[in-house]
Amino acid sequence: MTSSSEPSTTADPATAGPAYSKEKPKPRGDITLLPLAGEEAPFDARADELEALRTGHAAQVHSWELVTAVDGPGTRLSIFFSGCPLRCVFCHNPDTMFARFGTIRTLEQAKQRISRYRSIFRASGGGVTFTGGEAMMQLPFIRNVIEWCHAEGIHTALDTSGYLGAAASDEFLQKVDLVLLDVKSGDEVTYKRVTSRELQPTIDFGDRLARLGTKIWVRFVLVPGWTDAPDNVERVARIISKWKSVVQRVEVLPFHQMGRDKWSQIELDYQLNDVKPPSTEEAQAARAIFRSHGFTTF
Ligand code: SF4
Repeated sequence: MTSSSEPSTTADPATAGPAYSKEKPKPRGDITLLPLAGEEAPFDARADELEALRTGHAAQVHSWELVTAVDGPGTRLSIFFSGCPLRCVFCHNPDTMFARFGTIRTLEQAKQRISRYRSIFRASGGGVTFTGGEAMMQLPFIRNVIEWCHAEGIHTALDTSGYLGAAASDEFLQKVDLVLLDVKSGDEVTYKRVTSRELQPTIDFGDRLARLGTKIWVRFVLVPGWTDAPDNVERVARIISKWKSVVQRVEVLPFHQMGRDKWSQIELDYQLNDVKPPSTEEAQAARAIFRSHGFTTF
């Protein structure tokens, strides 16, 4: 996920409220959805659970949220999966990096959740967003859910860094309605410094999406002193110019400090204590670079 998009405050009165015990990390906001009846402990035996994880009939889910105007068009059910191969210094949900903060949820439970909001999706032009963490860490599960949504006519969006994109089949990627592709830097050195991983898998993934015709919203987090050098932004713009046939918009997401407390809660070192959010002018300057390459920006 991008880690810089702010959830809206649209609450589901029937389900909004804290979903976790005090031992669990704080959820993203007050729109996290409570467990439904019978959702807890879906498997009696560990072996059954492991088999369900392997076959995509279960996954480690961090939380479910109902959001508007972020994570894709319309009102969406965002499913936050646990586990991520990246270690972004600006991550505002660092608890989603680790599978241990997730809870086992089944395919049937996901379908039940999604079905609950069908009328809202229809009215708002929304759908389901698979995010995290890195949703593609649990590819068999999201493949099953997305195939089901595709058959049911429910819009799907996959929020990803693309780092694990090589594991996804063309057939699967053609069923995803929209990919929210997080391009965290335009040059290798900065990308590694910011995420601890390599940039190339993201480029390869974007190349494939462009070949397949899968729509993309590019997301770029603007972090002063880390990703905001004009040359770095220009490099991102050049990379994504290869995907122009499918890139519908570029979202420049200003870094914020809303995730700072979560780093200390899970006893991780936070390197951005002294970093201030970019000014409106700085964010506009970055957007102007993308616009100069012909992109629509937000
Ligand atoms: S560490 Fe993972 S979850 Fe956090 S911002 Fe980076 S890609 Fe997203």
